[in-house]
Amino acid sequence: MSFLGLSGDAITAESVPETCPRCQKKHFYKQHDFKRSLGVGIVGLASLISFVMMGQGYNWFAFMSPMLVALIIDRIFSAQRPFALICYDCALIFRGLKWDQLKDVEDFDLEKYDRIHYPKRTNGEQPAD
Ligand SMILES: [Zn+2]
Repeated sequence: MSFLGLSGDAITAESVPETCPRCQKKHFYKQHDFKRSLGVGIVGLASLISFVMMGQGYNWFAFMSPMLVALIIDRIFSAQRPFALICYDCALIFRGLKWDQLKDVEDFDLEKYDRIHYPKRTNGEQPAD
């Protein structure tokens, strides 16, 4: 397991699966294989530094510069980290897939996630395939 990679159960796949081997569902999304807590921590730290600098009376460009640095760090990690395929239902991570294999897989969709995990709140409507 990598320090920078997503945490959770993961398997290596050679192709995009039709159904998830763990939950038998067929809803997947792709994202960079980068630990979410680390990304949120970087943005949180930059926000805190910006807030303190704003309180000390720095001009807008100076107190927004930590956010610019956080954006640059995010873009560097995005460019270097491989993509992973993730099951919406059970969050199983599939690693080892190449970009060409994942180009038809959608990015994360919060509405689809909510329809799967909170069916009573969405009147039981399941996401379309
Ligand atoms: Zn699954």
